[in-house]
Amino acid sequence: MASSYYSYSMQLLSQQVIDDVLTILISIRAVKIIIPIHTKEFIMLDHSIPQDMCSISGNFFVIWGALAFLGLVSILGSSAWIFQWLFVDVTFEKWQRKTNPEYPTPKKVRDEIVLMLKGVAFSTICPSLAIYLRSSNNRNLSFSQAYCTFSEENVYGIQYHLIQFMGIVLLSDLYEWFYHRLGHIYKPFWEVHRHHHIFFNPSPFSVISDEFVDQFARSLPLVVFPMLVPINMELMFATYAVFFYFYGVYLHCGHEVDWIVDAHHPILNTSYQHYVHHAKSVFKKPYHTGFFFKLWDQWAGSLYPDSKCDCITCQRRQHGKRTQEQYKKVFKPDYSILWKDASVWWGSVKNDNPHAKSTTTATTGASS
Ligand SMILES: [Zn+2]
Ligand SMILES: [Zn+2]
Ligand SMILES: [Zn+2]
Repeated sequence: MASSYYSYSMQLLSQQVIDDVLTILISIRAVKIIIPIHTKEFIMLDHSIPQDMCSISGNFFVIWGALAFLGLVSILGSSAWIFQWLFVDVTFEKWQRKTNPEYPTPKKVRDEIVLMLKGVAFSTICPSLAIYLRSSNNRNLSFSQAYCTFSEENVYGIQYHLIQFMGIVLLSDLYEWFYHRLGHIYKPFWEVHRHHHIFFNPSPFSVISDEFVDQFARSLPLVVFPMLVPINMELMFATYAVFFYFYGVYLHCGHEVDWIVDAHHPILNTSYQHYVHHAKSVFKKPYHTGFFFKLWDQWAGSLYPDSKCDCITCQRRQHGKRTQEQYKKVFKPDYSILWKDASVWWGSVKNDNPHAKSTTTATTGASS
C-alpha cells in the first residue's frame, strides 16, 4: 500500500518535473538555435510526454546539452545563494563561525567560478550517458540495468530501494575517497587534482572546481553502477544531487554549523575537515580526502591530528570568542565587482585584499 502510494506520488512528480524542464528548455530562444528542435514533440518518444527518465529519447548530445544547462542553473543557483548569504551579506555572528577569519579575494572567487563553469560540461557526460544507455532508443542493448520507478519492469520493493540508497551512498563515498586519495599520493593524479587546491580558503563555488579528468572520473559511478546491478535512475540521480552536490556546498562554505554537527563528530566529515583539506592537504599529505564519512580516512590513518585542530570550538577554547574589534580589522572584499564589472572576467581584478597573505598557504586562527 505504502509502496504503491510512493510510486504514484513519484510518478506525478517525475512527469511534472520532466515536462517542466523540457518546456523551459524548448522555450529558450538560444536552445532553439543551437539544437534544431521546435516543439516539445520532436524530442519525445512516440510524440508523447516521457513518463520518467527511462522514457527520454533522443540524441546523446541533446541529452548532454539539456543536462549541462540544468546542472549549470542548479549549481550556480545553490552556490550563489549560499555565497550571497555568507560572503556578501557578512555579519559579526556569521564571521564568528568562519573557520578562516579572512575572506577569499574576488580574484580567487572568480577563478573558482571559471573552473566550475568549465567543469559542468565534463561532469554531466556520465549522467547523460547513463540516461542515453537506458533511453528508449537503446532498449534492446543490454549495457544498462537501470530502471525507473514507474516502468513496467519495476518489480522491486521498498526494501530493495532502501538497500540501493545505502549502497549508492556508501560505495560512491568509498570510491570518491579512494580516487581523491590517489590525487594526493601519485604525481600524475596530483598534477590534475592540484588545481582544486589553488582555493586554500574556499567558497561555495569551488564544489566542482576541478580539472576535466577529475570531473569525469568522479561522476563515473553514475554509468558503472547501472551496468553492475539494477539501479533506480531517479533514486541514483536524486542521491547524487543531494548527497554529493548540496553536501558539497556545505563542505566548501568555509563556515561551521557546530550547533548541528561539530567538527569532532565521530562519523561525518564537516565543513571544517574539508577546509583543512583545502588548506593543509597537499601532495603526499592526504588529510581528509573523504567526502561524507570519516570512516575511510580513519582506516587509512589520514585524519588531521586532533592536537592541531583549529576548528571554531578549539579556537574558542584556546583564544576565547572572537571579538567585535577583531571583526572590524578583517578585510571584507567587495564581491559586487563580479556582477557589476564585466571586465573582471577576462582581465585583472583590481580590489583584491591588500592584506592577503600567501596564495598557497592558509591563514587560520582567531587572532590573525
Ligand atoms: Zn574541495
Ligand atoms: Zn584534494
Ligand atoms: Zn577542534
